[in-house]
Amino acid sequence: MALIVITLILFTPISLVSAQTTYSPLFNGENAYDYLVAQCDFGPRPPGSNNLSECREYIADTLTALGWSVSLQNFTYREVECSNIIASWPVQNASIIILGAHYDTRPHADQESDPDNRTLPILGANDGGSGVAALLELASVLPEASRSSVEMVFFDAEDSGYIDGWDWIVGSTYYVDQMSSAKIASVSAMILLDMIGDTNLRIPREASSTDSLQDTIYSLAAELGHDDIFPDISGSSILDDHRPFLSAGISSVDLIHTPFPWTWHTLHDTPEHCSPVSLEAVGQVVETFIIEMTTTNSTFTTDPSGDYTLLIIAVLIIAPIVIICFYKRK
Ligand SMILES: [Zn+2]
Repeated sequence: MALIVITLILFTPISLVSAQTTYSPLFNGENAYDYLVAQCDFGPRPPGSNNLSECREYIADTLTALGWSVSLQNFTYREVECSNIIASWPVQNASIIILGAHYDTRPHADQESDPDNRTLPILGANDGGSGVAALLELASVLPEASRSSVEMVFFDAEDSGYIDGWDWIVGSTYYVDQMSSAKIASVSAMILLDMIGDTNLRIPREASSTDSLQDTIYSLAAELGHDDIFPDISGSSILDDHRPFLSAGISSVDLIHTPFPWTWHTLHDTPEHCSPVSLEAVGQVVETFIIEMTTTNSTFTTDPSGDYTLLIIAVLIIAPIVIICFYKRK
């Protein structure tokens, strides 16, 4: 009998992440979808284009109207003027979470089945538009106490890789290159949102992301009932804007749809293949993550000591039963 009980103790699964939230997220998928459509109304938005300039102004104006301090980080790449958009709250805490998304769109629909269409630019409702849309809705719904712990970065020049000698992730690479070591040390986490709007959204764990951060996010997603969109399984490794942050030693997670949806880098990447329901699921998970990471009355912990507490309680309850059973057997 004692052996059975000890075996039970040893093999009883105990959650590795204690993520219990009482927070009710406010993120609204319909609002986010409106932000997605508004970007598409400018047309395709490749780096250096007039459409992208207009969209940049729209993103900056939207953030400014919500009270965020907005600055442009300008740089030139292959003789094209590019700008990352940076939004922070006027009062900023010593420790921050960076939320990122790229706002440029791919100049060529090179995944199109018809070769004649492969040099046309994509609209980027999902690839570009969806991540930005979610950040703008987060900028609106996050409580002020948490906004002080957040910096939002909208990256330029992410999605032109292999076209005319361009590289991928140019804007995020530039952003991280410009970070001081003090700034790098102040970042507790980086969360990247990319292609999160598809109607049949599925975001398994991106393979290069930081495991401990993913544990937290996937645990919260399950708790919020979004484990269909966030299956807790291994996905592919993606070259994306979180990579320069990882290289700088910053814990980072890429929330990205893999395998890529059928609309990826085609002329079908349009609002009709995106869904407010998908945007809302991801937005609410990220919103809850930020609240739990940034508010002091949180019951949430990423510290594994929470798990030992459970283990100790289990042992304290079960040990006397083991001892009683042992002596009864004698
Ligand atoms: Zn892309």
